[in-house]
Amino acid sequence: MSAFLHERVLTVHHWTDRLFSFTTTRDPALRFSNGHFTMIGLMVDGKPLLRAYSVASANYEEHLEFLSIKVPDGPLTSRLQHLQPGDTVVVGRKPTGTLVTDYLNPGKRLFLLSTGTGLAPFMSIVRDPEVYERFEQVVLVHGVREVAELAYRQYLTEELPRHEFLGEMVSAQLRYVPTVTREPFPTMGRIPDLIRSGELARLVGGTDLDAATDRAMICGSSAMLRELKGLLEERGFAEGSTSRPGDFVIERAFVDQ
Ligand SMILES: Cc1cc2nc3c(=O)[nH]c(=O)nc-3n(C[C@H](O)[C@H](O)[C@H](O)COP(=O)(O)OP(=O)(O)OC[C@H]3O[C@@H](n4cnc5c(N)ncnc54)[C@H](O)[C@@H]3O)c2cc1C
Repeated sequence: MSAFLHERVLTVHHWTDRLFSFTTTRDPALRFSNGHFTMIGLMVDGKPLLRAYSVASANYEEHLEFLSIKVPDGPLTSRLQHLQPGDTVVVGRKPTGTLVTDYLNPGKRLFLLSTGTGLAPFMSIVRDPEVYERFEQVVLVHGVREVAELAYRQYLTEELPRHEFLGEMVSAQLRYVPTVTREPFPTMGRIPDLIRSGELARLVGGTDLDAATDRAMICGSSAMLRELKGLLEERGFAEGSTSRPGDFVIERAFVDQ
């Protein structure tokens, strides 16, 4: 059996000249947990050219969805950005990763802290009905430089709260906090600064981050992960892993050069 599945592109949406998302068919044999990533890519000169990608769709959906950067000279994304419906993408059969609610201790509030394409795994998690059973409140924070980079903003504010099955839970329990650093916007600033200043707590109408009741998942650049990990550890949060649950888990949104 090949290590890869060949899926057909169904839709492509370009958010900006640096960011796009696409959906594909899904082989029913592909199983994953919400928050997982897998290897995806294209056949180039008869060989698969692959990169790690978080699955943005939920594990009960019939299709797969991915959110992608466009790196101008990137081996994969310089090609992938030209995808059209009907094209074929290669999808690895072994999704994996640490951004899974099973790797967190029970808690009351779940903070999903992301920058850039780090939003992708959390798009899967906020569409998971189980997450709303495990946590009283789910706070999705997405930090970007420019307003146009707030992918899925309209979906999160308008469509998901009206979703046939999830709408009621989402309306009552999900708080979406977009934040922008380089353009005027209602919430401005980097995520660590919003936490340190107490602004995030104020925005969600609650108390400051507390290791006794709060849990966090973090997905962004290595620098962002380092900073937030330090900030949470100072507050008594313990990091979890696939072998031992903790108060927070982290995953890189990409590998720096
Ligand atoms: C666990 C994991 C999950 C990932 N999930 C996603 C995802 O859901 N969506 C996605 O677009 N990418 C994701 N990536 C990054 C992805 O694997 C590739 O790096 C990206 O698709 C670019 O591929 P490339 O071959 O064009 O360039 P590469 O040679 O892979 O990257 C070139 C450089 O571009 C920059 N870069 C790469 N990816 C990003 C990014 N996402 N945001 C900002 N800068 C970036 C880095 O500086 C990198 O060194 C993930 C990476 C890891 C490790």
